[in-house]
Amino acid sequence: MVQFTSKLLLATGNPGKARELADLLNGVSFEIISLRDLDLPTEIDEPADTFEGNAIIKAEAYAKMSGLLTLADDSGLEIDALNGDPGVHSKRFAGEDATDEDRVQIVLQKLKDVPWEERTARYRCVLAIAGPGLDTVTCEGICSGIIGHELRGSDGFGYDPVFYLPEFDKTVAELSLDQKNRISHRGRAAVQAVELLKGLS
Ligand code: IMP
Repeated sequence: MVQFTSKLLLATGNPGKARELADLLNGVSFEIISLRDLDLPTEIDEPADTFEGNAIIKAEAYAKMSGLLTLADDSGLEIDALNGDPGVHSKRFAGEDATDEDRVQIVLQKLKDVPWEERTARYRCVLAIAGPGLDTVTCEGICSGIIGHELRGSDGFGYDPVFYLPEFDKTVAELSLDQKNRISHRGRAAVQAVELLKGLS
């Protein structure tokens, strides 16, 4: 039987993801530890060409560095009119030092001649859980929407101001944290992760 300390390392350096995951994992019986708490690097290489591959790489690397049960998130935006781009390159779509605003502007520019009905997209999130003596497990969630023509809202992070949800008539950046977590790719993956974590506590 695998024995864990009661700590769970949240292996993300992205403050937006960390805020959402802390809320989503609220009910688990682990003390949530951040990378900063352990003075660990907030970024490592993500060489895989799938979200699942990168989530596993991150979870296993940080579990090895910390010796703790570790949860990592790899996620991004897939736009149908761009053949699934930016996909696993969502974070660096506008270059290394670009801001969320830069990335959003590149997306709007690339889609400037694309009509509404062809602006379909989805967010995809894979959460991986790794730890000493544990076979790494993953869970995935998706959230479908449309890339709008302009920015709306100021909550969330990343591409949220242009990710429009027809069923809410709002962008994700116009949803509260609670609303986003109930319908998002990350929220859907986290429901499964919480079940897996219950089996480990
Ligand atoms: P990575 O998983 O750290 O490689 O980067 C994920 C990138 O995808 C983020 O930096 C955002 O640009 C984008 N992304 C992932 N999840 C979300 C989300 O919930 N909202 C908006 N953008 C997201």
